[in-house]
Amino acid sequence: MKISSVKGFHDVLPAESARWAEIEATARDIFDRYNFSEIRLPIVERAELFRRSVGETTDIVEKEMYAFEDRDGTVLTLRPEGTASAVRAYVEHAMQTQEPVTKLSYFGPMFRRERPQRGRLRQFSQIGAEVFGRDDPAIDAEILLLLSDLLQAIGIESAEIGVNTLGCSDCRPAFREALVAWGESHRDQLCADCQRRLQQNPLRLLDCKQPQCVALRDGAPRMIEHCDPACGEHFARVRQLCEEQGLELVLQPYMVRGLDYYCRTAFEVVASGLGSQNAVGGGGRYDGLVKSLGGPQVGGIGFALGVERLALVLEAQGGDAPRPAPEFYIAPLGAAGESAAFALGHRLRAEGARVEVDSGGKSLKSQMRRAGKMEAPYVILLGEDEVGSGRITVRDMQARADRRGVAALDTDINELRAALSAAATAEG
Ligand SMILES: [Zn+2]
Ligand SMILES: [Zn+2]
Repeated sequence: MKISSVKGFHDVLPAESARWAEIEATARDIFDRYNFSEIRLPIVERAELFRRSVGETTDIVEKEMYAFEDRDGTVLTLRPEGTASAVRAYVEHAMQTQEPVTKLSYFGPMFRRERPQRGRLRQFSQIGAEVFGRDDPAIDAEILLLLSDLLQAIGIESAEIGVNTLGCSDCRPAFREALVAWGESHRDQLCADCQRRLQQNPLRLLDCKQPQCVALRDGAPRMIEHCDPACGEHFARVRQLCEEQGLELVLQPYMVRGLDYYCRTAFEVVASGLGSQNAVGGGGRYDGLVKSLGGPQVGGIGFALGVERLALVLEAQGGDAPRPAPEFYIAPLGAAGESAAFALGHRLRAEGARVEVDSGGKSLKSQMRRAGKMEAPYVILLGEDEVGSGRITVRDMQARADRRGVAALDTDINELRAALSAAATAEG
């Protein structure tokens, strides 16, 4: 009997993983430029970490966490997001004692038991970054510029970064009150969920997806108009710094993000090609989070992007996934060719080439077909004649020409490449 994968948990097959590898390599390059260092976080954490950070009344904690009791009774969970883990690590290793500003990047799977749909899986992969130890607007702008550079380098053409301010613990209570008052005055027009959570979590009303709530929202109070002067100036400066660098941000006065820990700058990236679920990532500032998890009072800001979603956007744009092909396909013919092919393949690999060595015992025709399918530009043919003369024959697949005796059997990779390119040039 065959065993299949679990619903919402997918294999990333080679045709797709090449695209993932390219996205991740691009992200590493951009993180380097902004002087971030990678942290590798564990996949399992104590469930309490997310209850205390993401928030008890969020969907993630209420409905979506893979929490379970370990054999010793500890309640553990597969991490649903990366920020809380990064904060936990920062506090646990007292990173603030090593340097006043810590810039971390991370890559890896997250787990949420959502309803599986296109681009939304129960195990999904994120690329994220966090900065601890700065609360000035310039670092918010730096993060937004990093994000924009990253999206551009990956090749997401339609990316748009929406921003909002969520205020702080000083000015948010008054905004909450205004929002509750407004919600109460429109109570009968709200969906059942929003009516239920109006008192407990009124901000959620602003990102409700029910049509009647969306239609109503345009009249709702906006945080940007309820900020205290410090929060207002912070947000204005973030936007100004980005604009001065040519980064266009879209003000989204009703964007609140789903998690409890955000304050001040919040942002979200959308891109076309994903249908109605068009977010590819987002993030924001979380100045109280480190302290609430037992660390010092330091500012924090970060973001995460979904790798599956980035890959879907690239696919929708029509870009081909990269298909790595071997530079040389070695086709042995007969017993003499086989051992020579094995040795030549090993040497060319040691010299840095991507090489596929066929096992031999097959017809030339079937080996050529396999080489063609792999899109190898060169096939090295090794039969009795080649081994006897000590000169190899290479078929240039693009030129459709055989280069007889083009190089010695003990050639090195540079000689071989040079001989092949000379042969092609001579041919015109
Ligand atoms: Zn404030
Ligand atoms: Zn609603």
